Amino acid sequence: MAQIAVVGTGYVGLTTGACLALLGHDVVCVDINESKINMLKQGTVEIVEDQLQDITQDMMFKQRLRFQFGYDSTLSECEYFFICVPTPQNEDGTADLSFLRTAATSLKPLVRSGAVLINKSTVPVGSTTVVEEIIDREDIHVVSNPEFLREGSAVQDFLNPDRIVVGSKNRQVAERVLSLFESLNSTHLICSPESSETIKYASNAFLATKLTYVNAIAALCEHVGANVDDVIRGVGLDRRIGLEYMNPGPGWGGSCFPKDTQALIRIAEASGYDFPLLRGVVDLNDSQFSRMVDKIASMLLGELENKVVALLGLTFKANTNDLRESPSIRIASILKHRGAIVHAYDPTVSEQMPDIRIFTDAYECCSNAQILVICTEWNEFLHLDIEKVGLLMDQKNVLDTRNMLNPETWIESGFTYRGVGR
Ligand code: NAD
Repeated sequence: MAQIAVVGTGYVGLTTGACLALLGHDVVCVDINESKINMLKQGTVEIVEDQLQDITQDMMFKQRLRFQFGYDSTLSECEYFFICVPTPQNEDGTADLSFLRTAATSLKPLVRSGAVLINKSTVPVGSTTVVEEIIDREDIHVVSNPEFLREGSAVQDFLNPDRIVVGSKNRQVAERVLSLFESLNSTHLICSPESSETIKYASNAFLATKLTYVNAIAALCEHVGANVDDVIRGVGLDRRIGLEYMNPGPGWGGSCFPKDTQALIRIAEASGYDFPLLRGVVDLNDSQFSRMVDKIASMLLGELENKVVALLGLTFKANTNDLRESPSIRIASILKHRGAIVHAYDPTVSEQMPDIRIFTDAYECCSNAQILVICTEWNEFLHLDIEKVGLLMDQKNVLDTRNMLNPETWIESGFTYRGVGR
């Protein structure tokens, strides 16, 4: 079993640290956010992720997982360093590598000979070399190991990966890294660091493109009178296409797709390749949020001024508390700009936000509203008491941007129902 340090203890880092401990390794998770580390030392996980808190507490109890604020010489005992720091978007769309550079600079005096730095952050092609240049030592290896977990099912995805990719100039080092995940029995791919870094961006860009394509087909369905549910099923049953990741929605968001698609466009540009396909996808996705607001406006006969819109769901997807680049927040801000009063409820959100009045109860959120909008696919919205909602609202309108409700039951209760492409 290996001695491992995980650098950066966010969604990816904490999941990586807790799961590597579960696989039997001895793990220390390092972060520069002192309050986060203090909470984790008490076994409190702020991230909403199925099983994560239980595994974290169990591994701490078994003394295979500990948390550390900042860097010190005890890290020299580690053989492997998983770098899981943020790579947010710069103003020009490129990925900001400053967190990666800072982490590598902090590790430089601490890593022992033969250690391997493993870059799990999503980084532009060439970033393995950036870390190598900072470390500047022949006896330290740097590899790329992109992470493909999805928020909402992070632990399950980590423990059951479709593939584990390691990009390294040195096959033996790649095999050492893969041996850390041996008990997962997953498909492996060893390739160059450049290919590995490209695989991560190409995967996210493909998924974003797939969703945008489905949203475009849903828009077409509305024009031609087809039902997107039937169309998607008919298309997805073709095994070359598949049924997964084929649900229309309010537009994609979250902590990864928006920044990763922009970064890939910039990576392509910098290399001399124009990427009109991906630029089109990003532009279309931006217009999807306005399309949702136009739908709301049309259900309110064109008038949004002073209309109360009740948004159900604020996180970018269900089963997480991550609000980064959430479609709901984009939609709320366009609504506000067009004069609407925005109420919102989300099972994981209680703090007030600018321009949105937050409720801690779905029914209170709907009170006096002219329209109810399902923005995030939280399961609990399937179990709303429709009669009660109808009595509380000023007008009975529902826009289901996730196509999750049964239209018939809402229509039977006197609601005007609209979905996306149905
Ligand atoms: P996050 O913001 O949740 O966590 C990052 C953590 O790194 C924070 O706790 C921060 O305090 C810490 N940190 C920053 N600088 C540090 C430093 N110098 N030393 C130690 N810790 C430091 O980020 P995340 O969502 O976990 O994403 C991390 C990386 O993984 C990004 O590149 C992201 O694109 C990628 N990724 C994210 C997901 C996802 O679903 N969130 C999935 C796959 C890949």
